[in-house]
Amino acid sequence: MLLPNVLLTGTPGVGKTTLGKELATRSGLKYVNVGDLAREGQLYDGYDEEYDCPILDEDRVVDELENQMREGGVIVDYHGCDFFPERWFHIVFVLRTDNSVLYKRLETRGYNEKKLKENIQCEIFQVLYEEALESYEKEIVHQLLSNEPEDLENNINEIMKWIEQWVKDHNS
Ligand code: ADP
Ligand code: MG
Repeated sequence: MLLPNVLLTGTPGVGKTTLGKELATRSGLKYVNVGDLAREGQLYDGYDEEYDCPILDEDRVVDELENQMREGGVIVDYHGCDFFPERWFHIVFVLRTDNSVLYKRLETRGYNEKKLKENIQCEIFQVLYEEALESYEKEIVHQLLSNEPEDLENNINEIMKWIEQWVKDHNS
């Protein structure tokens, strides 16, 4: 059976992982968290002193994922999207959260002042939405509101409907 690949992207804290895991449970698609994948495989290429975090080795991440992406049926979760091959994804969702809500979530995560400010600005300037539009056909890029639990439920239901339709269209 042919299954679609779904990309979930957006600023840290918008709810990609929460949505991705729940969606995987309900749809039966596989869930891949690129941050976790990189940590487990140490897919890094140096260290960013300014941002105090390892630098993702994008080529190795792509190599690591290529086979399962080719098979299909994968939900990918990452706060970046411009280095994945465009052909991988059938649909791209950019999660969006209001600044005040996002601020509280990131504060709860224990982000320092600098990191908080950078991530809030990333959301204000809709960096990930622009990146998605530059990297994929704009017809497949959709924004999803992710402020409250009701949004999560709605988003899951909408994506489930989309997956079911895609499966019908590609397997008959
Ligand atoms: P990301 O993976 O994008 O960094 P997470 O999924 O880890 O974000 O979510 C960040 C925090 O926000 C978590 O505490 C999560 O429970 C909460 N959260 C995620 N989505 C929602 C939502 N729709 N409504 C309320 N809280 C949410
Ligand atoms: Mg996450």
